[in-house]
Amino acid sequence: MDINLKKHRDDLLFVALGGANEIGMNVNLYHLNGKWLMVDLGVGFASDVPGVDMLTADISFIKAHKKDLIGLIITHIHEDHLGAVQYLYQELEMPIYTSKLAANFLYSKLEEYNLNKRVKVHIIDGSKDLNLDPFKIEFIGLTHSVPEMNALLIKTPKGNILHTGDWKFDPDPVVGNISEKEKIKAYGDKGEILAVVCDSTNALTAGHSRSEGELHESLKSLILPCKGLVGVASFASNLARIHTIAKIAKEVGRKVVLAGYSLRRLHEVGKKSGYFREDFDFISDHEIRSYKKSELLIIATGCQGEPLAAAKKIATDTHPTVKFSKGDMMIFSSKIIPGNEKKIFALFDALAKKQIEVITEKDHFVHVSGHPSQDELREMYQLAQPKIAIPVHGEFVHTKAHGDLARSVGVPKIIQVENGLVVKLSKENFETESASIGLVKAGYFGVDGKQLLDLKGEVIKERRKLQSAGIVTISLVLDNSLNLISKAKIIAVGCYDLKNDYVVKEMIQKEITMLLKHKSKDLKLGGGLKIPFLSKKRKNLPEGKVAAEIEKSLRTKIIRIFEDLIGKRPAMEIFCHIVN
Ligand SMILES: [Zn+2]
Ligand SMILES: [Zn+2]
Repeated sequence: MDINLKKHRDDLLFVALGGANEIGMNVNLYHLNGKWLMVDLGVGFASDVPGVDMLTADISFIKAHKKDLIGLIITHIHEDHLGAVQYLYQELEMPIYTSKLAANFLYSKLEEYNLNKRVKVHIIDGSKDLNLDPFKIEFIGLTHSVPEMNALLIKTPKGNILHTGDWKFDPDPVVGNISEKEKIKAYGDKGEILAVVCDSTNALTAGHSRSEGELHESLKSLILPCKGLVGVASFASNLARIHTIAKIAKEVGRKVVLAGYSLRRLHEVGKKSGYFREDFDFISDHEIRSYKKSELLIIATGCQGEPLAAAKKIATDTHPTVKFSKGDMMIFSSKIIPGNEKKIFALFDALAKKQIEVITEKDHFVHVSGHPSQDELREMYQLAQPKIAIPVHGEFVHTKAHGDLARSVGVPKIIQVENGLVVKLSKENFETESASIGLVKAGYFGVDGKQLLDLKGEVIKERRKLQSAGIVTISLVLDNSLNLISKAKIIAVGCYDLKNDYVVKEMIQKEITMLLKHKSKDLKLGGGLKIPFLSKKRKNLPEGKVAAEIEKSLRTKIIRIFEDLIGKRPAMEIFCHIVN
């Protein structure tokens, strides 16, 4: 399905370039009158891509419409909503609008990429609409695991859309304000919400999510009796949780150490934005030595078992200042995210082997989700009363369950989207007409150090090959009669221990000598070079062609040797230089 955008110039369109049928990498676009508004520009986590931990969306579609991109609005501070700005800003260069907390966080990240002076982040004023013609945006505060999460009511003459962002209805979010349900209800009661684009993360979870505020007592009851060192591993972005833990530490007489760069950054940004104003006892990890174990509480990064994060370093005794031992306790105040089980359980195991008590959400009440369960989703639809529900921010299994739930509470139309699918949102005939009008390019780029790589491109293909079978390089220097000037240099990396196998090395040398002998009969160097004993059969070729011909034939032969030897085809680079 291809798309003729000119035909749809006056239509209200929605397209997700990321975040549809997946959790992470949220990138949404709204269109009207030829203008595009972007909501969120997040990263996703890569699995099984060598050297790549993070993904961004392929934004080539919107890059082609850059001049019509009127802005990016970021709903909240989380990486899956703003983490790609530092990688993709230079391609799009649009104005950015977000809350004070998210703006401060973004600037601290952009500084690392020397972009903080180039990017203009406008701080939104929640008390009035943001005018980005043809869209008017009203901000509606919703609770989440971080404060300043704003749902957007995108108002247009063609209908209003409630883009929820990540949310839950938490009566006690610990930091920040409670959800502004009444704003949604006011529009819903008047029938003024055409579509809701909504969080599906916990659409399979029955009931109501538990409150952040409820955690305080449970965590405190675990920490209070502990005589040794207490650690709490949590998501570094969970500002409310850090607040809860710091408060408990204060109550039980422990100083708080933030172990992990991302935690310290969030704490700094939080302070700058007006949080952590309470009289908490944060100390630096270098001050640890001045205190007894029973006087300290460590908040650590790495609750998902990330190899370079603080929790893993603690478990493997490689953290420079924080040392845990028998009798200490580590609480994982976090979710075991599907896909990370292997890394997480390896971490639990390493801690348990050191006889450190490990407490997780599996056995104690130590974590609450920041996303809505089924009862909250029902309530949202009852408040907003939209004609259309578009479930996003979830795998297909979640968005499907979310859609069924929305239907069960009377939403007449459910649109299941996928990345790149363009849907038309219309007040008229929305029940009978098909919403989808075409597909635009969508896909993934891998964040690879300072470059972005197409996951289907050559570099990743080569890297996978190197990862699975290693590489052999052979370097030959020949005279113009195609004799070796010196012995061929053969190096095998990551595929076979050639250094300690003289026999195989000699076999390859012999193969090279035989091949060259054979080739010298067939190939003739041209370009005025004279080679003695020329036969008429020889092809008259320039030096580069001769070298290429030798490289090609040798590659076939040597790959066969390795295939016999190790049962795999390593990558192969052969360099043949002919010296006059
Ligand atoms: Zn979030
Ligand atoms: Zn999210």
